[in-house]
Amino acid sequence: MVGRAVVLASTQWADHADLERDNMVANGIRARRRSDGAQEEAEVDRRKFIKAATAGTVAIATAVTRANAQRYSVPIIDTHVHLYDPTRPQGVPWPSPEQASIYRTFLPADYRRIAEPFGVVGMIETECSPWLEDNYWVLDVSAKETIVVGEIGDLFPGKPDFGEHLSRLHKNPLYRGIRFAYLWGRDVAEEIQKPQVMADLRLLSDAGLTLDSGGGQRDVPNLLRITDQIPALRIVINHLPGAPIPDDPAARAAYRQGLRELGKRPQVYVKVSEIFQRVDEKGHRVKSGGRIPRELSFYRPRLDEIWETFGPDRLLFASDWTNSEPMGTFGETLGLAHEYFTQKGPEAVEKFFWKNSLAAYRWVKRQVNQPSLA
Ligand SMILES: [Zn+2]
Repeated sequence: MVGRAVVLASTQWADHADLERDNMVANGIRARRRSDGAQEEAEVDRRKFIKAATAGTVAIATAVTRANAQRYSVPIIDTHVHLYDPTRPQGVPWPSPEQASIYRTFLPADYRRIAEPFGVVGMIETECSPWLEDNYWVLDVSAKETIVVGEIGDLFPGKPDFGEHLSRLHKNPLYRGIRFAYLWGRDVAEEIQKPQVMADLRLLSDAGLTLDSGGGQRDVPNLLRITDQIPALRIVINHLPGAPIPDDPAARAAYRQGLRELGKRPQVYVKVSEIFQRVDEKGHRVKSGGRIPRELSFYRPRLDEIWETFGPDRLLFASDWTNSEPMGTFGETLGLAHEYFTQKGPEAVEKFFWKNSLAAYRWVKRQVNQPSLA
């Protein structure tokens, strides 16, 4: 575990922290044990079990079933989950060992244990590595794991072998697109000035695949340019609730105007993830200390703005696991989104939790409990 991997981890972490948001655990903000999330879910189930057990043996059997039953009746597709294995000889570029609470092997079976009790029936893996071989590694570890319905990989548009790898990867129907963002030291604004980069994004579009992007202030002009030039390319903006809103009034107005313009383009989707924020007593975001409000009312204004901008057909559920794990349990993360969308009605809930993800990613049904349109 010494050598190349560790060096890469420490240099590239800085970019990823910046990008995937500062709340991502950086700097050991919250000293959670690595299994806290799963343990808390298990604790809820254990308490239910004990409560029912006191009522008799029939109730015990029922409690066991209920403890493992779907908590939500709508089938849920989680559109942003990271898989990685730090015990590989080459290690991982993310997470870094300093992110102690999530620095562990996280494979589809680990995700299933956390998510399936809530009614999650499928997930889309999103890259957390710029290493070319990891595009293939994710396909390998997902080959027999039917909860994985797609992968958003990492190929660098503009690289000479982009097209070759895209066509090889695309032969596997699980490969649904790439993420191209201000990650791994990439400057997207600069890159999309290059004709070869735009040509490669056109290849992606022609293949019917999807582009995952950031949704911050510097991303929006890039997305307007890309959607202007390649209108058929479907775009998914990651973690919009977590994107900082500029303090400067002019910058803020421009950012909102840009988002409204993207909202008019039906091929642009949004992951409603990274809702939980760490804030000080005035409600301003902070990197450490403060508190993480649990109540929906705190987050509602931002969610309303996103809802009003993009509407019921373009918003996707995404847990951003394990990256979001230090901000709350899986149940809290899912529960907050569920509470918000439940208030929009049952049709909005179905769209948010699976129908819109099908439109955005055209993911592959692999299990009988994964939903499909008629
Ligand atoms: Zn993520």
